[in-house]
Amino acid sequence: MRCEIVAIGTELLLGNILNTNAKYLSEKLAELGIDLYYQTVVGDNLSRVSDTFRKAMERSDIVIATGGLGPTDDDLTKEGLCHALNIGMSVHEQTLAKIESFFKSINRPMAECNKKQAYIPEGAQIIENNNGTAPGILLKAKAKLFVLLPGPPNELYPMFENSVYPYLKGNAKYLLKSRMLRIVSVGESTVQEQLKDIFDNQTNPTIAPYAKSGEVHLRITAKAESEDLADVMINEMESKVRNILGDNIYGCDQESLEAVVIKLLQNKNKTISLAESCTGGLISQRLTSVPGASKCFMNGIVTYSNEAKQKFLGVNEATLRKHGAVSSETAYEMAEGIRKVSGTDIGLSITGIAGPDGGTAEKPVGLCYIGISYDEKVETYKLMFGGNREKIRWNSSIKALDIVRRIII
Ligand code: AMP
Ligand code: MG
Repeated sequence: MRCEIVAIGTELLLGNILNTNAKYLSEKLAELGIDLYYQTVVGDNLSRVSDTFRKAMERSDIVIATGGLGPTDDDLTKEGLCHALNIGMSVHEQTLAKIESFFKSINRPMAECNKKQAYIPEGAQIIENNNGTAPGILLKAKAKLFVLLPGPPNELYPMFENSVYPYLKGNAKYLLKSRMLRIVSVGESTVQEQLKDIFDNQTNPTIAPYAKSGEVHLRITAKAESEDLADVMINEMESKVRNILGDNIYGCDQESLEAVVIKLLQNKNKTISLAESCTGGLISQRLTSVPGASKCFMNGIVTYSNEAKQKFLGVNEATLRKHGAVSSETAYEMAEGIRKVSGTDIGLSITGIAGPDGGTAEKPVGLCYIGISYDEKVETYKLMFGGNREKIRWNSSIKALDIVRRIII
């Protein structure tokens, strides 16, 4: 079964609204194991809408259209489909009665154009719309299935969920299931290289990498007759991938790096405190965004100036003078200082040059030191990050969280 989504509306072509219906429907079709080969967007123009339907039915078995079911002149989806199929329309009495009673209930006269919504293509069935006046349309014609859904997401989602999804599911032989593995410390090209054999020989499950800011996500998708079977196939592929990427995989699906770190801290009964300079509280913010962080996150302070590093963390003036604020020695003393003053198991520090100013030949923009104090010892890491200020801060926060993660495991 090949499916195509046709999104109808000039506002989509103008960029006024984002085609979120297509995203939603694509995800649902993937879940159903229905192959989606094309997504089309077309404006509110009768001949182009009907051309689009004609093209879609040449190459797909199921055509799902969204938008253009409203009462106004620019809503032309049904007209376009009828034109493409060379069929007529007739009034659907129950729908008409429903629209009339809706207007009665809100005490407003029904405009003549609202009648338009009660017209349906010959041979079509309606799909009830409990959140608006335009019904959806289901039509089997020329051995193809056409599903017309309203544009407003609050009408489309429940209609799809309640009526179309079960209908398609009843007719589907396979389902698709995906799992996303989340990877840090290695870039997309390294992942490609390391998994080359798997990539070259993949059929089912398929795998695909996605570069995210500072991370790589690897999608594993299995097509199977049941969810259990898909799980078995995904698990098998996952363990092959894990054998190669090991601890660089930090989590799955929606699990964020900060959530993984918090979970590990909780499981190991460890507490953490932070002293941040260049990240200005970003790492603390990320950690405290995780529900339940209070069990292990003691405090995070932003010691941006040299004075603050001395006053709150006890960094030696001599250290700052001799090595500078961005140095391994300062990161060391910051990590130890914050752990001692907070009385936590782990103290994490970060100091760096986020730019765009402040870099020198010796200490360029992007240079960053991370310190971690735990088990009576302190480790420091010297790192270089590329990109602008925002990217340097974000990627250094990832690295810092990852250091904590690796130390706990
Ligand atoms: P329509 O049924 O074409 O008149 O669309 C009504 C409203 O639904 C539009 O003004 C948008 O706010 C929304 N809408 C239409 N198509 C889409 C789409 N593809 N994705 C998200 N929202 C949409
Ligand atoms: Mg429209």
